Amino acid sequence: MADVVVIGAGIVGLACAWAASRDGARVTIVDREFEGDRASHGNAGGIAVTESTPIAVHGMFTKAAKWLIDPLGPLALDWKHVPKALPWFMAFRRASEPARFQAISHALALLNNRVYDDILPMFDDIGASAMLYRRGALTVYETDEAFAADQPEWSFKRELGARWHALNAQQVRECEPSLAHVFRHGVFLDDWSHIGDPRRIVTLLRERVRALGARFVTGFARGIETPGSVLLEDGARVKGRRIVIAAGAWSKALANSIGDNVLLESERGYNATLPKHGVALTREVIFAERKFVATPLDVGLRIGGAAEFAGIDAPPNYRRSDALLALGKRFIPGIDDTDAAKWMGHRPATPDSLPVIGASPRTPSVVYAFGHGHLGLTQSATTAALVADVLANRAPRVPLTPYSIARF
Ligand SMILES: Cc1cc2nc3c(=O)[nH]c(=O)nc-3n(C[C@H](O)[C@H](O)[C@H](O)COP(=O)(O)OP(=O)(O)OC[C@H]3O[C@@H](n4cnc5c(N)ncnc54)[C@H](O)[C@@H]3O)c2cc1C
Repeated sequence: MADVVVIGAGIVGLACAWAASRDGARVTIVDREFEGDRASHGNAGGIAVTESTPIAVHGMFTKAAKWLIDPLGPLALDWKHVPKALPWFMAFRRASEPARFQAISHALALLNNRVYDDILPMFDDIGASAMLYRRGALTVYETDEAFAADQPEWSFKRELGARWHALNAQQVRECEPSLAHVFRHGVFLDDWSHIGDPRRIVTLLRERVRALGARFVTGFARGIETPGSVLLEDGARVKGRRIVIAAGAWSKALANSIGDNVLLESERGYNATLPKHGVALTREVIFAERKFVATPLDVGLRIGGAAEFAGIDAPPNYRRSDALLALGKRFIPGIDDTDAAKWMGHRPATPDSLPVIGASPRTPSVVYAFGHGHLGLTQSATTAALVADVLANRAPRVPLTPYSIARF
């Protein structure tokens, strides 16, 4: 029997397997397809430590109504999916209420402010340090109105620990000369960084976890049979003293199998990656009004964004990748889209933007590590450090109450 069975070999599950193995645990990791595509492969590559406010920002709901009118805008709902997702949307609305917004932000900052403490040793150990580009990031604004409207949030982020400074139009041009000359303001984010290739990080971490002695089992986990047994689709069972659920957007059914309830949606995001882009962007750029980002990865310029709620099984609508690419061409003139690759991935989204980390209140041998939404890469090693604390019965380095599944 393993000491720890981890379900899910995305960036979060692998990081948990890595941390537990380094603590001396015998680890088995289960995934339905170790090489298959997943959110952790195609994300924007941002170590987005500044993002310590929830997605449900007060005042976004009027904007959301406008976004929904545009079928290829930054937010899309499949109306057939809305009844099923209604409790999630109601909880999302509640997360924007001032007191809750503040509490969530402080809990996010507790994680984000220690990201480098945890991720640097992990990257070092897997041989990925040279692929971490600590060049900050740049948020750009086309209008004075949008820049002014965001000031309270920027001030609050500074209180939460984010380092940033405002740039004028000239400074934006000097910072990123490839951008169209339409940006009147910028916010330079000192501590944001990006990686060269999210997929490569997953591969390096997987190889390292294997080298540390973890057993790999290919199979789809249907549920947890307590105590300590994971039932696979083919009827086989994988046994472990502790079980970590890190199955990204698919984690809800596994939590339900031991009677824990959670609100979790797939917030589907899209991108286009341009291997021959031909422009010289230095750092990740966040386009504030248009809600998309461009990251200069080693594998090409990745232009991504969109939040589509259509359930986990709906086919991708790659016209969203086309729409993002069109925005990229408009705001980064001259990019070459030869051999552009389109992609869709499932962000595992909770309504309050907080991940689910910690032991199940019903079945303490089961430990949760999912629901990281937009920040799964960023918070992967920190989540793993906390999960390792729980598995080793150490006091967690951050109090885990805000992330407990009990909040649902
Ligand atoms: C467009 C886009 C851009 C993003 N940009 C960023 C960014 O810049 N920075 C950042 O930090 N985050 C970003 N994210 C979010 C980030 O990618 C995710 O939060 C993160 O990848 C989630 O990792 P995970 O390991 O939880 O899930 P996944 O990567 O989805 O992995 C889950 C794994 O579980 C396996 N699995 C699921 N169910 C089962 C089962 N029942 N049995 C066996 N195996 C199972 C799957 O096969 C998969 O391997 C972005 C996401 C998207 C979509």
